[in-house]
Amino acid sequence: MKVILTLGIVLGLLVNFAYAEVATPEPPEQNEKNIEVCTENLLVIGKAIQAYQKEHGDFPAWLSDLHPKHLTDENVLICPADKEGGKPIFTQSTDPEMPVSYSYELNPNYREAKTEQRKLYGDAMPLVRCRHHANEEFTVLNLSFSSRIYWSSSVWEYKPEEIYANLEETIATLAAGIQEHPDNEDRTYVYLALTRLYMQVERAEDAENLINRYKETLKPDNLRDHFVLSDMLRMMNRDEELLQLFTKLEEQFPENSGVFRRLAKIHERLGNAELANEYRIKANPALALIGKTVPDFSATDLDGNPISLEQYRGKVILLDFWAIWCGPCIAEMPNVKKVYDTYKDEGFDVIGISLDTDEDILRDYLKENEIPWRQVFSGEGWKSPVARQYYINSIPTPWLIAKDGTLITHQARGDTLERLVADALSR
Ligand SMILES: [Zn+2]
Repeated sequence: MKVILTLGIVLGLLVNFAYAEVATPEPPEQNEKNIEVCTENLLVIGKAIQAYQKEHGDFPAWLSDLHPKHLTDENVLICPADKEGGKPIFTQSTDPEMPVSYSYELNPNYREAKTEQRKLYGDAMPLVRCRHHANEEFTVLNLSFSSRIYWSSSVWEYKPEEIYANLEETIATLAAGIQEHPDNEDRTYVYLALTRLYMQVERAEDAENLINRYKETLKPDNLRDHFVLSDMLRMMNRDEELLQLFTKLEEQFPENSGVFRRLAKIHERLGNAELANEYRIKANPALALIGKTVPDFSATDLDGNPISLEQYRGKVILLDFWAIWCGPCIAEMPNVKKVYDTYKDEGFDVIGISLDTDEDILRDYLKENEIPWRQVFSGEGWKSPVARQYYINSIPTPWLIAKDGTLITHQARGDTLERLVADALSR
């Protein structure tokens, strides 16, 4: 009887732990031979690192340190899919001594951070990575500290199950990691992933305990900590508790657009459409202006001339809030130029409101890229008076204003810009 009972418990545990296999990212469908050679390279590099470690008691600073003693053939450091013959995709990973295709995670730029991270994630973590086989999902071929080869997302921290053999190992390692290193810098990633995984394997009680533990470590005046808590509650579908949390946060952090945005989503899920809309507008006041007349501004352009919307009345205007440091803004520039060139003679114009802080850099950029339309620049970045007047809290924010001065949209960009402009001109 006793034996059967014990067996029952064992079987029960087995059933509990019979988790589904982890869905690892698909290897890219390209030259299989390349991937084969790259895999072999990584394994040889792994052995060389071990030999180096045995001799020096520590990891090498760069992969080139392995050559020639521990790695005689330097071609092993080149991935056949690397068209440049020895260049990792992230420049911070560029080996200073010789051509190397691989990103070495313990190079001096990352060593401190990665060493900390390893305390949480253990030896399943990537040590050497090849980004040269990337497809649209940007998968990476990895060699782990424990010499395992696997594919993962570029930012595996969002889906740490990719680096372990199965979900059971993932959960056990992550749970032990935050238990032993409660102050680790990377713990928030682990809290989020672990909550999601507990829910996935139907261990709601463990998720519950985890949230309670997180609440104890949370710094009450740190908004990001609260956002992480809210993401955890969201994974558990606890919208009522989320609402309580954000009602308090709204008092504590008034006028924070992130708080407003989350409140809008909570109310939307709770079926409070009106409140959801109210908070959407609070998060982005421009929404309330759509279809209404845009209040005028008055400023001076880069040439020292007064500029206002009034001067442009009767034209379709793109009021473009942008900055050179804003990647998506710069990426959009050729599109804006194309539309400007096509429709400028039909009554379309652009006004740039630059949130840059360095006038010389701005002038150089405008000259080099032959941007012909006028620019408003105060040098105060986010505090620029025109940006503040219109509650701009993120860029790119291209407002499209109709001939009659009403706002058509606060996001006129990409493929839709030309269509919207042509449409507005025909009215
Ligand atoms: Zn490769």
